[in-house]
Amino acid sequence: MNLKDKIRVISDFPKEGIRFKDITTLLKDGQALRETIEQLALLAEEMQPDIVVGPEARGFVIGTPLAYHMGKGFVPIRKKGKLPCETLKGEYKLEYGTDALEIHKDALEPGQKVVIADDLLATGGTIETCINLVEQAGAQVVGVIFLIELTYLSGREVLHDYAVKSLIKF
Ligand code: IMP
Repeated sequence: MNLKDKIRVISDFPKEGIRFKDITTLLKDGQALRETIEQLALLAEEMQPDIVVGPEARGFVIGTPLAYHMGKGFVPIRKKGKLPCETLKGEYKLEYGTDALEIHKDALEPGQKVVIADDLLATGGTIETCINLVEQAGAQVVGVIFLIELTYLSGREVLHDYAVKSLIKF
């Protein structure tokens, strides 16, 4: 199956000039969803992680079934103020100002090998913050996996110290 054909591209969303990659059309197709997770798992297994980490919200949609398929656990990274226990914080830049992502302080073990999974690599800012959180927790990022990579935004360059793999490129 051509998984790229299952992704709908919406012009001028969320604002003019952006061509938004909508994965809901892929997710609702049972066969496409299964193939997506199986193919992502093949990429992730080469990195030999102990655990999968994913950022809110679409990182949950990709990361949890990926972890399940590999027989590993899943750890969420959330927008600030959502996690109930003690957290580590990482700030990231928005167009105006900053926002923060958080991970539970006790979610990862020191030295644990982590694969971070998300739906889409654009500029790499989100995943840079996630890497920072995983490393603050004392764990080791063995790779980063995306369903989609927007190659024209060169997010891969920001992540040059890490193994980066993606299934579909635009
Ligand atoms: P980055 O931090 O610039 O790499 O942006 C990546 C984040 O923005 C991901 O978590 C995506 O969920 C979201 N994102 C950016 N562009 C798109 C898009 O075209 N479709 C879906 N999500 C997007």
